[in-house]
Amino acid sequence: MTAGEEGLIQLYAKALRLPTVADCAAIVREATQQRWGYEEFLRAVLQRELEQRQDNQRKRRVKAARFPQIKTLDTFDFGWLKHMEKAQVYELATGRFIEKKQPVLMFGNPGTGKTHLAIALAYQVCQLGYTTRFYTAGELVTDLAEASQQGRLSALQAKLIKVDLLVIDELSYISFGRASAELLFQVISNRYERGSLLITTNLPFSRWTELFGDATLTAALVDRLAHRAILLDMNGESYRLKQAQAQRKEG
Ligand code: ADP
Ligand code: MG
Repeated sequence: MTAGEEGLIQLYAKALRLPTVADCAAIVREATQQRWGYEEFLRAVLQRELEQRQDNQRKRRVKAARFPQIKTLDTFDFGWLKHMEKAQVYELATGRFIEKKQPVLMFGNPGTGKTHLAIALAYQVCQLGYTTRFYTAGELVTDLAEASQQGRLSALQAKLIKVDLLVIDELSYISFGRASAELLFQVISNRYERGSLLITTNLPFSRWTELFGDATLTAALVDRLAHRAILLDMNGESYRLKQAQAQRKEG
């Protein structure tokens, strides 16, 4: 390949926004050495560009999700909670519940892997092409209150509806005021049937009135959620406690 040719390829590729095509010297060399046909060469160039683009998009989705840390399904010990079914979790990992706009609720006491599993599932569906946003309930309430004060509540609400999967982790009794409770309530009910939600909580439905205050509204929300949701019972022995005990023994 002459310098002039290479320069023109780079110019065209840049104008067309094809960065791996612009950076083609290595693949041209390989094609020459291996005596690839035209078709094989063109296929390889396009494939490389496509794979790079998909990889970038996956990274962008993971970044936009704002996970506090990355947790994956393959590091999750399915033997720990005896009543949890691995098959059910892997069914969730296909993202079909997102297509059906189903809510997923994980109930359980602290330390049983709810946050781990919520991140791992959301991370997995990011890989599949779904957009997600991870919040703790506390962060979400803060963001909503702030947006409300700054007059951009509807913009935030629109964003929260648009994402394919909204994760609300640690929905538990936090002493937020009436107005904040209402904002959180609205987010959850707005997404009902419009998009998937993944909620983790230590509170059974029977205690959700403590969260939202209004018994009638809460009953209606719980009713609608329970009707369509996939429920995971994650009560059990704390994995965190087991880890801490194992470390103490080692030390
Ligand atoms: P929860 O959100 O239910 O309070 P976490 O998901 O934060 O619990 O789990 C606490 C710690 O234990 C985390 O470091 C998590 O990775 C780990 N953990 C919990 N359950 C499991 C499990 N079944 N397999 C592997 N690690 C687990
Ligand atoms: Mg947690």
